[in-house]
Amino acid sequence: MAALRNTLTYLAPDGLRVEPGQRVQVPLASRRATGIVLRAGGALPPGIEARPILRVLDPEPVLSAELLELGAWIADYYVAPIGEVFRAMLPLRAVTRRARAVRLSVAGRRRLTQLLEDGGASPDPAAELLAYLAERGSASVPVLRQRFPEALLHAVAQKWLLTDEVERERRPREVYAVQMAGPVPERPPRLSPAAKRILAALDGGGPIIDHRALLRSARTSLATLKRLSAAGLVELSASAEPRLSPAAEPPPRALSAELVLSPAQAAVLDELTRELAAGKFQTVLLHGVTGSGKTEIYLRLIARCLEAGRTALVLVPEIALTPSAQAQYFARFGSQLALLHSALSENERQAEWWRIRRGEARVVVGTRSAVFAPLANLGVLIVDEEHDTSYKQEVTPRYHGRDVAVVRARLATSLALLGSATPSLESYWNAQEGKYRLATLPERVEGRPLATVEIVDMRQEFRETHTQVPVSRQLHAEIVAQLARHQQTIILLNRRGYSWFLLCRSCGQAQRCVNCSISLTYHRREHRLICHYCGYAAPVPSHCPNCQSEYLHYVGEGTEKVEKKFAELFPTARVARLDRDVARRQRHFQQILGDFRDGKLDLLVGTQLIAKGHDFPGVTLVGVVSADIGLGLPDFRSAERTFQLLTQAAGRAGRGDVPGRVLVQTFYPDHYAICLAAEQNYPAFFHKEMRFRRMMHYPPITALANVIAQGSKLEQAAEVAKHVGEFLIPLEGEVEGVKILGPTPAPLAKLVGRFRIQFLIKCTSRARLHAILRRLADHVEQQGIPPRALVIDMDPVNVM
Ligand code: ADP
Ligand code: ZN
Ligand code: ZN
Repeated sequence: MAALRNTLTYLAPDGLRVEPGQRVQVPLASRRATGIVLRAGGALPPGIEARPILRVLDPEPVLSAELLELGAWIADYYVAPIGEVFRAMLPLRAVTRRARAVRLSVAGRRRLTQLLEDGGASPDPAAELLAYLAERGSASVPVLRQRFPEALLHAVAQKWLLTDEVERERRPREVYAVQMAGPVPERPPRLSPAAKRILAALDGGGPIIDHRALLRSARTSLATLKRLSAAGLVELSASAEPRLSPAAEPPPRALSAELVLSPAQAAVLDELTRELAAGKFQTVLLHGVTGSGKTEIYLRLIARCLEAGRTALVLVPEIALTPSAQAQYFARFGSQLALLHSALSENERQAEWWRIRRGEARVVVGTRSAVFAPLANLGVLIVDEEHDTSYKQEVTPRYHGRDVAVVRARLATSLALLGSATPSLESYWNAQEGKYRLATLPERVEGRPLATVEIVDMRQEFRETHTQVPVSRQLHAEIVAQLARHQQTIILLNRRGYSWFLLCRSCGQAQRCVNCSISLTYHRREHRLICHYCGYAAPVPSHCPNCQSEYLHYVGEGTEKVEKKFAELFPTARVARLDRDVARRQRHFQQILGDFRDGKLDLLVGTQLIAKGHDFPGVTLVGVVSADIGLGLPDFRSAERTFQLLTQAAGRAGRGDVPGRVLVQTFYPDHYAICLAAEQNYPAFFHKEMRFRRMMHYPPITALANVIAQGSKLEQAAEVAKHVGEFLIPLEGEVEGVKILGPTPAPLAKLVGRFRIQFLIKCTSRARLHAILRRLADHVEQQGIPPRALVIDMDPVNVM
């Protein structure tokens, strides 16, 4: 689908029936494009000429009226090209691809006749090629290039060939599972660097289910893999199997005994069931403390929804990371369940999509884009951990999955249920204002107490010990006690990698990314400096590239280093680590989660990934190593993020029979985000934080948009910013309630090779802000500024 901002009108040729929601192939300028039919029928307005539709690609609509309307709403609200919105909504690949086919020209045919008449008297380098084409009719350029590399050049030069643009059906792409055929031989055959990278990845990370991930990380093509297979070093097998294997998961505790709902759970479920039965659109915010049994409520509500003949959609932040939640849904709904998440291969995703579209799957659990699942007759849309920032898409269309879920619930006249122990300020505010209904679960199930939280003042620690260490004496003593009691501990640290950065002691410069204005993080396993924003990786220099000094110093502790440190400090403990680097190796990751759950590990070091929704009943201590990294960021949500992270982390402790404890190490023991998280007092945090937002005119009090002018040269970005400024700045006086901040360099002044200049627009009315953004988009288009030079982010979650 083309990234058009406007819709186009085409003619349906006689006899061709088209319906809204169907994909069609249409001419667009000089090429062919795939489009979605938005409206069908009606006469052309006078004076308008329309080209005919070439063909209809789907026997029936792939988007329902509801989803078409949802797409139109997203395009409008987020000021995104409608074509890109539909592309994001449909996981279906284009049905055809464009290819160039080569055939003989008149001159070519004449030459071939000559050659045949000659009977080989005057040999021609292109003879075979001409004969091949004469017999076949046509062939593709890559095929010819491979078979007749020289002849092809010759024939082109002689004008013996013609090329046509043709449409070819796409064949479903093969996906292979890859594994080592055996140990790497003592004396391996000579291998290309790419082949070595493949072997190293398989050796270190184990078998791979989808070969394409392997090729991406080894930066090579299928040909390399096939050569390795031919050499007997790796085994390839066709892999169409979905990777979900719930049978391998331990049965969730919820199933081992039929649970009796707590009175609070029962009351909330009753209320939700009434809402569901009312058959009206309604949004309910479920504020339930960690371990209050929200999932059980979701499961029962969904069951009631199915009984009523309707369907259900559950959004979760990162499903691939919480296999136990997957297993619970699977145990309840079996083959009625479809999963949609980013770890699926393209084929798996398409298969799930069609199961939903055909009505075979009536419960969908998935991440952000699952909000577009083609379910008919939706009864309830649940957004679990609704505060999670992963619901916001950070590329066009920059929609927020939670907010889109609420809009879809309105279009489908169904119930939207947003659940969290730490609701976003936006949602809690909406509940206070009466826009959402509020339901609460103030206590954990079975009368389990919330964990007690204690703050360790690291300034005091430094004054007394004169050393800067990641582990305070108190945390150290507590871990020793944990090990003696054979109880499990989680150590939370919000930074992956080994060291935060590499600093030169002589000139004070940190090693920075070439593409981004951010320092590189040292990763020990790879022994490389890596950019966490763009993935750029550099070898570790032995001398400072700036001043040649050799006094390079690693600053700060990441998870990799803390894991190593803990293994040294507690030699008898079984220590492991979980963060995004580990999560990349899916199997390894599942192994660690499983081992920890089974009590085969004592200490788990990790980033916020381990604070997210996991239910590890054996954990009785959570140590937060540096609680305050986020507080220093120039982002108005930093206190909210810190509060959420600490509360969620505390929520991992004491979920079993033994009460939990949390130690929070911080340099800001008096900061309200930290104190109130320690009290686990959400309402108090909400009121305090709202005072700050009100004073500073930030959401949810005002509507906010982030507009970024960008370019690969600073002057280009400045030029775009000039046009944007000319349009925006006068509005401050003209439109009521508007404030413009900027232009200023964005906090990340350069990102992935682009310089960025930022405007923040605040407005007391969301409708007026939206109108401004639409006019801004028109304005820059009229100025001939290419779309990628301007980012418009409505309701941004990240303003860096
Ligand atoms: P939350 O999502 O609110 O943090 P969960 O839904 O993960 O909490 O529930 C925490 C644990 O309590 C789970 O292991 C769940 O199976 C269990 N649980 C839920 N409801 C009950 C109940 N009524 N009685 C006993 N255990 C329950
Ligand atoms: Zn230096
Ligand atoms: Zn970078």
